[in-house]
Amino acid sequence: MAGGGFTIRAIGASEGIRIGRAYRLDAPNAGAAAGDAERAAPERAGEAAGGGAARAAREGARMAEPNAQAAAGRSSEGGAAPHAGARAPSGAGAELARLALARDRSAAQLEELAARAKETLGEDKAAILLGQRGFLSDPAFYPPIEKRVREEGQSAEEAVREAVEHFAARFEAMNNAYMRERAADIRDVGKRLLDALSGGDSGEAGIAGLREEAILVAEDLSPSETVQLDKRLVLAVVTRAGGRTSHTAILSRSLGIPAVVGAGEPLDAVRTGDTLIVDGSAGLCIVRPDEATLREYEARMAAERERLEAERGARFRPAVSADGRRVEIGANIGTVAEAEAAADSGADGIGLYRTEFLFMHANRLPDEEEQYRAYREVVERMGGQPVIIRTLDIGGDKALTYLDLPQEANPFLGYRAIRIGLDREDWLRTQLRAIARASAHGPVKVMFPMISGLGEWRRAKAIFAEELDGLRRANVPHAERIETGIMVEIPSAALQADAFAREVDFFSIGTNDLVQYTLAVDRMNERVAGLYDYFHPAVLRLIRSVIEASHRHGRWTGMCGGMAGDPLAAPLLLGFGLDEWSMDIGSIPKVKSALARLSSASCQELADRAVDLDTPEAVREALQAFFGEIR
Ligand code: PEP
Ligand code: MG
Repeated sequence: MAGGGFTIRAIGASEGIRIGRAYRLDAPNAGAAAGDAERAAPERAGEAAGGGAARAAREGARMAEPNAQAAAGRSSEGGAAPHAGARAPSGAGAELARLALARDRSAAQLEELAARAKETLGEDKAAILLGQRGFLSDPAFYPPIEKRVREEGQSAEEAVREAVEHFAARFEAMNNAYMRERAADIRDVGKRLLDALSGGDSGEAGIAGLREEAILVAEDLSPSETVQLDKRLVLAVVTRAGGRTSHTAILSRSLGIPAVVGAGEPLDAVRTGDTLIVDGSAGLCIVRPDEATLREYEARMAAERERLEAERGARFRPAVSADGRRVEIGANIGTVAEAEAAADSGADGIGLYRTEFLFMHANRLPDEEEQYRAYREVVERMGGQPVIIRTLDIGGDKALTYLDLPQEANPFLGYRAIRIGLDREDWLRTQLRAIARASAHGPVKVMFPMISGLGEWRRAKAIFAEELDGLRRANVPHAERIETGIMVEIPSAALQADAFAREVDFFSIGTNDLVQYTLAVDRMNERVAGLYDYFHPAVLRLIRSVIEASHRHGRWTGMCGGMAGDPLAAPLLLGFGLDEWSMDIGSIPKVKSALARLSSASCQELADRAVDLDTPEAVREALQAFFGEIR
């Protein structure tokens, strides 16, 4: 590429194309960053003439300016408070005083950030910051740091560094994704304390200092940085580290910000102010592109924007195939805040409400009243559309810190979901009562996760019946009839679908787990991620047989695993006769748009052929060819 540009090929973590100026978060020295941008400017002026986006990118250099003030050290109280970085007279007493000042300052920053995040991003994101704030007053976290200073003569910095590493390592060893995230939170808090000790502003200056649209470039984003991403200013994100399931990737997707992660060493050559093209769908980051490349991507970006706008504009149309087959579209949500987005998403209801987030964001089990209020709010926000509430699916990769569940060699095969519910019946009964009470405010259905056999289903259903009976006798309002179904995410349940279909009201296929249990591929393990594929013909056969069994018995089948939100899978699911498709809110417009182009007769033929193909690759090829033909 002319003009010294180059292309980085990495992991596309969140789709979409953006062109803009780079803004390095790991270069907090504002003077240097702005200087870099200015030095680079003349070269770019010649290289990227013309084109609105390119022009906007060229003007981006100004955004680094506000950092100067931040880098100079702002006190959250303002005025002339002594800052924690000022070296006090030596001795443990002075070190402890610096430490206390740094802690107070960090706590105030986190409270302020949480308040901002609550306004702009909702309560669940703010909870991440409040959780970090909690560490600072946690007796297991802060006193050991003081002890290192007082008894071991360490400097405040050494004590923070070592204590944080010690705690983070303990969380990391717990071997599940949620706990690993807590380790990132601890490191984040540690970094904040260290920055406060040195009189800095915790790198947030980087994000908070953003005044113009830019593409963020960073080693990785910390949890407290990710929750501050401002969609209006952050065009895209490129990180050196991270994979498809990293914090940055997940949050970028949920915010709809294109992202490329795992860019590695080549990203070191990017400076603040460089023009970048980020293609989050292809996993590309083009650095200092030449004129022809810029023009090509501007055209692609415009076409993509047009397509997305058209799809979004049509999101309230019913989901109907080209030959008139209507399917229900559900939204997957985890929080009350997401219900609001779901109501505006074009979904026909909530196909999966993952209640575990309500439990994970608390520091003790939420009681019946708290659960009832959350479920009722979701039901009310959906204004009469059905809400499928799944009972607690904890265990596996989702832990509750306050419960101290046992460590297991194979957590996904162990004490998880309905197994815990049937073991701790009191928890399940409390939740079922709360759900039943919410049904007085709008249509609710209940779904049990991780059912492996009829015994579990019958026991769960009997417990629900007893609780409903109790509510009835106590004159507590609830719906007369509440549909009850199971998640089909274990092959044994899929293989016994006929027997289940005689008793349940509905099935919801959880492909995220069904794939891992059918193919013996840990869904969290990146090393075997290449084997994890819902287009595997064995998985397709299970899906087809579940849908057919439900129809034989006059029941319906939904799908709430990730496959339902993949437009490429739409011809198969339509061909199999799937009744309800539930997905992340962001996927709804594109799946509806794909459906509108499909005819159920030809999809049925394709689906019949696909289950007889040998490999997932062959299925993918067949689907791509199919879409190629109907375009
Ligand atoms: C699934 O397994 O497909 C599913 C939707 O449940 P979760 O991802 O919450 O395990
Ligand atoms: Mg699951």
